Formats: sequence, structure tokens, C-alpha cells
Amino acid sequence: MKTSEAMVVIGAGQCGARAVQVLRDEGWDGAIVLIGEEAHAPYERPPLSKAVLLGERSPAQCAVHGESFYPEHEVDFRRACGVASIDRAARTVTLTNGEALAYHRLLIATGATPRRLSLPGHALAGVHVLRNAEDALAIAAELEPGRRIAVIGAGFIGLEVAASAMQRGCSVAVLEAAPRALMRAVPAEVAQRLVDLHRERGVEIHFDIRINRLEGEDRIRAVVLEDGTRVPCDALIVGVGVTPRVELAQQAGLELAEGGIAVDATLRTSDPHIYAAGDVCAFEHPLYGRRIRLECWRNAEDQARTAALNMLGGEEMHRAVPWFWSDQFDRTIQIAGLPAFGTTTARRETGSASTIFFALDDAGVLVGASGVGPNSEIAREVRIAQELIARRARIAPERLADRTIKLKSLLSEEVQ
Ligand SMILES: Cc1cc2nc3c(=O)[nH]c(=O)nc-3n(C[C@H](O)[C@H](O)[C@H](O)COP(=O)(O)OP(=O)(O)OC[C@H]3O[C@@H](n4cnc5c(N)ncnc54)[C@H](O)[C@@H]3O)c2cc1C
Repeated sequence: MKTSEAMVVIGAGQCGARAVQVLRDEGWDGAIVLIGEEAHAPYERPPLSKAVLLGERSPAQCAVHGESFYPEHEVDFRRACGVASIDRAARTVTLTNGEALAYHRLLIATGATPRRLSLPGHALAGVHVLRNAEDALAIAAELEPGRRIAVIGAGFIGLEVAASAMQRGCSVAVLEAAPRALMRAVPAEVAQRLVDLHRERGVEIHFDIRINRLEGEDRIRAVVLEDGTRVPCDALIVGVGVTPRVELAQQAGLELAEGGIAVDATLRTSDPHIYAAGDVCAFEHPLYGRRIRLECWRNAEDQARTAALNMLGGEEMHRAVPWFWSDQFDRTIQIAGLPAFGTTTARRETGSASTIFFALDDAGVLVGASGVGPNSEIAREVRIAQELIARRARIAPERLADRTIKLKSLLSEEVQ
């Protein structure tokens, strides 16, 4: 007999789309409702700054599931429909159209929204952020050969947009407030490797930049710095980070932490009937012994699974070692673990143009690894590093750096 209760998922993004699949595959035979405010079926965001800007793929070609997936799996997919509020006592959500839906378990997978500038001129035409399909199409339309594109922020989104714009024949200037690129994500040496790559390909990158205003009549014409320098541009892309979409959780009185929705290692919120996963959640990571929030594809995928299994009554801890990649020009960077938690770096050349940087904490435990180079030269090594991180391996930096010692052989060694 089918249960009449519903699993409700808020947010039809990477995580929501995968969660409904796992709920059905793992045997939930009651109703499943997926609610998303975007007009599209869930799609992958990583290609938006790469293949979509390069004109190689359309957002429709990035769908997580084919359109037939939802009816075939009896997922009641409500698109172009927001959730306005959660009533925890009644265990219902109210949609923006006024309809109320009861839930057995609720998953909040509302992702994040790009931060915007509050500078004078921020609303001029030609000023963009990049999070969704419409943003990507609007930016792609700006990337005509010969146009001048300014990018604010040398984080992953900013650098990927810069690489795509350069490849489309634009001239590109990246303006960053910090003294270096990728400040929060990778050690300085890794960031420098990427900056060198961009400069070799013709991207201008400036650090320690203070912006005064954006200038133009109705359309952006220049970014004006505090020292008076004008950086002329035909379009500007702002990539200065994201804010997790916690409004619903906050309004419902759920606990928040690290800017996201606080969940335990099973991804359960402070309400036992409600889970949160993906970019929006700050979860207790058993490996690091603290709460972290991640903004990456693999995490959204993996957490969808953990959350769905636990909504079905499981008690799975989310232990996956974080893994992230970014493609810029013909290079890939892959990051396993959390290099920012490291205090010592060991560097291993893995090919003619590829390097892995290992990050060890004060106790000598491997906490992160970042590989830069062609995908074929780093992917395998980063995968092994991920396994070593999961085991909290302590390996002398000299051994990690020594190319004659196979990384794989370190896996089988006794971990102190
Ligand atoms: C341009 C770009 C490039 C990226 N490249 C990479 C990459 O190379 N590698 C990598 O690892 N990661 C990358 N990422 C990050 C990755 O895409 C995200 O981590 C992932 O999409 C997070 O999934 P999510 O489901 O948590 O959130 P999202 O995919 O953002 O989905 C959340 C959804 O919830 C909806 N929503 C929010 N509030 C409500 C509401 N109240 N009611 C209904 N719906 C709501 C939103 O509209 C959205 O559709 C990239 C992201 C972007 C934007």
C-alpha cells in the first residue's frame, strides 16, 4: 500500500534534483514534490561559466535529468513556483501561489545567490552576476570579439568567466580587492599558477584594487578606482561570492551557522523533520571536527544522497572528503579536502605542466591537495590524495614531494 505522506524538496537545483531521484530509487513509494522557482527543469551550473559562455552548449543541454524523468518517477515537479514559508508545527510549506503542502520530511536545498555590489552605478545595463541560465545567456551575448570585459573578483567564477571571455576574443581585465587570487580556497602558490596562466593568455589581473564607482549613462562604460584610474569596459561581470539562501529557514526559526543552515553530520537541521543540503547548509564534518559550508557540485550531489537516505529513516553520517574542480583555458584545477586548513605545503611535479600541492596541518595530517595541470596528469593523483585525506594520513612533506615514490604506495603504508 502506498503511503499518503509526501517528501517535499525545496529548490530544484543540483541537490534537489538528485535527492528526488535517490528518494524514489531507495524505495519511497509515497508522493514526492520538488519545488523550484526557476522556469527550467534542474540543470548543471558548472557549464554556465565554461561551455555555455564559449557557445558550445545551451543551458537546455545541461539538464540534470531529461524532461520525462519527473513523470516517469512520479515526481510532482512544480517549476516557476517558490516556497513562501514553512510552518513547522503544522508540517506544511506554503507556496507563493498560496497553496499549502503537507510534508513527512522536508529537504531545503535552496542553494545560494550571488552577492552584488552596492557601489554607485551597480544597476547600469551591462553589469552582470552569474548564477543561473538567464545570467549565462546574457553574459554570452556580451562576449563579442574585440569587446572589453571587466571582471570584479579573482575567485573561481571570476577567473572562469575571464578565461571564457578571452577565448571568445574579448580583451579582459580582472580587478580583485585582495592581494592575491582565490584567497579562501587554495595556497598562494596554487593561485599564482593560475594567475600566471591567465596572464600568459593575455588576461590582465590587478590586485589590491579599491573601486569607487561604476560609470556610464545608461550602460556601463568604465570602472573607476579610488585613485581615479578609469578601467574602460563594455560589460562587467561581478564574481564576489555568494550568500546562502537561508531566508525560509531563518523565518521558520531553524538554527543557522557559518552563514548557512546549521545541520549535524546526518544533515538534519534543528528540527528532526527537516534536512538541508548543498550550498545552503553548514554541516558538521566528522573528518575536520567542525562545521563547514561548501559551494561545489560534488558536495551537492553527495549530500543529496545522504539527506535522502536519512529522510527515509537512515542515520548516515556525511563523511565525503570535499572535492572540487575548475576548468580555465586548457587547464584544470582539482581540489581535494580543505587546503585552507593547512599550514605547510609540499609540492610534487606530476608531469611536464602539472603540479600537486599538498597541505598539511600543524600536526602533520594531510588536510588538502590541489592539482593544477591537464586533467589527464592530475585527476588520478588527486583521487589518491582524497583517499589519504580520508584516512587522516601523516606523511612527511619530503615524501609527498618525491616523484619517485608512487602516491599509491603511500596508501598501503601504515598511517601513524
Ligand atoms: C557559473 C557556475 C559555475 C560553477 N562551476 C563549478 C565547478 O566548476 N565545479 C564545482 O564543483 N562547482 C561549480 N559550481 C558550483 C555548483 O554549481 C553548486 O555548488 C551547486 O549548483 C549547488 O547546488 P544546490 O542544489 O545546493 O544549489 P543550486 O544549484 O543553486 O539550486 C538551488 C535552487 O533552489 C531554488 N530556490 C531557492 N529558494 C527557493 C524557494 N524559496 N522556493 C523555490 N525554489 C527556491 C533556486 O532558484 C535554485 O534553482 C558552479 C556554480 C556556478 C553558478
